[in-house]
Amino acid sequence: MPLVKPLAGLIESKLESDHACKVIRSRSPLRRCMICRESFPKQEMLRLVVDDDGEIWPDVLQKAPGRGVYHCMREACLTDMNDRRLQPLKAKFRVNLPQQERLRQRMVSMLEQQLKRMFTRQRTSAAIGRDAVMHRLWNNMPLLLLRASDAGDALVRQIDDGLEKRARAGATSVLTNVPSRQWLGEMCGRDDVAVVAIDAAGVAAATANRLNVYCIWLASITGCVKGEER
Ligand SMILES: [Zn+2]
Repeated sequence: MPLVKPLAGLIESKLESDHACKVIRSRSPLRRCMICRESFPKQEMLRLVVDDDGEIWPDVLQKAPGRGVYHCMREACLTDMNDRRLQPLKAKFRVNLPQQERLRQRMVSMLEQQLKRMFTRQRTSAAIGRDAVMHRLWNNMPLLLLRASDAGDALVRQIDDGLEKRARAGATSVLTNVPSRQWLGEMCGRDDVAVVAIDAAGVAAATANRLNVYCIWLASITGCVKGEER
């Protein structure tokens, strides 16, 4: 069971039908979460590295040198990420404690940086704002929808209706709530954005899936409402 369910019927079905992908996935090494001690595929976790000053930094791309620890990023483990739960790291590293608040802030800012980069790359292909998104919903290609938690009621109903129609037509859509219109606007380089639709078909599926995972992680850290699948 993956930590964050991939876009339904998309990546899973690709993995099932594509032998090469299946092999890669089954070889993905497991890592133990530093909070719950459960093991999960490394690629689905957040890697963290400890610097020479004993500060813990998120390594979103999992490429930073040095020894790492892993976080499963499940909501329960984020809630439990306090200085007492970080204490066992002292057996392996010279870690400065307390630092739970600093670490939480670093996770948020690293994820936001990463998301901004990804949104910038998506800018030409993404549907940004209500009209563009409503138009995109008519197309039955798989879609990732990011909707601001403070989007107006009328828009929420409009999107929900559109998603229901898509579901009836057999189209795959994933809806994830993001912190606010201002936040989504900042990600897209605009003032205020209530909704964004990102193509999730074919090669775009992996990027959409990553983007969705980062948004869900961020929501879990900041306590924003979680997304749902249609
Ligand atoms: Zn965990």
